[in-house]
Amino acid sequence: MKIPFLDLNKQYSKLQDEIDRAVIGVYKTGDFILGRELKRFEQAFAAYCGCQYALGVNSGTDALFFALLALGIGQGDEVICPVFTYIATALAITYTGARPVFIDINSDSYNIDVTKIEAKINKNTKAILPVHLYGQPADCEQILKIAAKYKLKIIEDAAQAHGAVYRHCGLPGANCEKKVGSIGDIGCFSFYPTKNLGAFGDGGMVTTNNYKLYKHIFKLRDYGRIDRYKHQMLGYNSRLDTLQAAILRIKLKSLDVWNNDRRKNARLYNKLLKDDNKIIIPKESDTGRHVYHAYVIRVKNRKRLMDRLKKSNINTLIHYPISLHLQPVYKNLGYKKGDFPVAERMAREVVSLPIYPEMTIRQIKYVCNVLKRSLGGNVKSFKKKLNTATELRITRN
Ligand SMILES: *Cc1c(COP(=O)(O)O)cnc(C)c1O
Repeated sequence: MKIPFLDLNKQYSKLQDEIDRAVIGVYKTGDFILGRELKRFEQAFAAYCGCQYALGVNSGTDALFFALLALGIGQGDEVICPVFTYIATALAITYTGARPVFIDINSDSYNIDVTKIEAKINKNTKAILPVHLYGQPADCEQILKIAAKYKLKIIEDAAQAHGAVYRHCGLPGANCEKKVGSIGDIGCFSFYPTKNLGAFGDGGMVTTNNYKLYKHIFKLRDYGRIDRYKHQMLGYNSRLDTLQAAILRIKLKSLDVWNNDRRKNARLYNKLLKDDNKIIIPKESDTGRHVYHAYVIRVKNRKRLMDRLKKSNINTLIHYPISLHLQPVYKNLGYKKGDFPVAERMAREVVSLPIYPEMTIRQIKYVCNVLKRSLGGNVKSFKKKLNTATELRITRN
């Protein structure tokens, strides 16, 4: 059996007619930049996230960059973010001239360790930039508390978490459930093709309930323009293509189903892998609805395992092999090996298994079977478990 890490073609074939029609529709109108389909998608995405405003931009990285700029962050400022995330989270901070201040991650949720934030706050600290890593919401209640206490802004990096829900009754001024991207001052999303909601190319989005921030980013993404010929600020050329928006608007309608399928796949993996003491499976916090952008396990002998899986035609990835403080680009920040023990251990141990929504039960069982064999577990008792695992897919959340 051949198991790709992701099968975008399968996803496309299901929606092909609708997507092709939408794309041709854009060809015919010719409004390729800031067109009507973009506005429609922005409205749909804002509504989906429970936000007032959404603005399409070139990429998730630009979404983060513009969010920081709109909040007035720049030279001399510090922004707190987790040390274990995709590099773009920190790059966006650096682009503004501000300094990323790294925090280790929690060893259960793999999200920013909120108990370590306060010690790093000083007079230059302007914002906290939590990442909802792998699709699991960060500990937003604590982050909101700290931000309120020190008057800091919150920018959510939701690039891996479209549709994830944070649950906590007693959020200030909020109800008991909020979609990620609507919790802080600005939410940032990526539509890179492999994300839970992916375009046919690059794309990104900011979400906010703040009209001023919305207006600011509205200008930032379009040359700082206030009318056709007048430029008020140092703006950029960073807009989500009308074509991509038209495609994404159709795909958005399936996002909840896809996320649900990812969750079902995760539950099947959990069930099949949970008793193996050589594997650490992901822990789902009860304050969030994880959308499993990645299903990440931890093992001791990662390289050997990945090679074995590869030999059985199973593709896996590492998110991420190098913690940000050890990236060559951030040498100048002065961090060293040993500064962030949890992240460093993660970087050595994590393996992402395929978990795309279209995966079949058979495929997941096959992955687990090969995984178990490679790790030399008790294959006999595992076989029995494989046979009972089918029911699990049917049970609802
Ligand atoms: C993908 C990703 C980004 C960057 O998004 P792009 O659209 O690729 O620029 C930022 N942060 C995280 C956590 C991501 O996974």
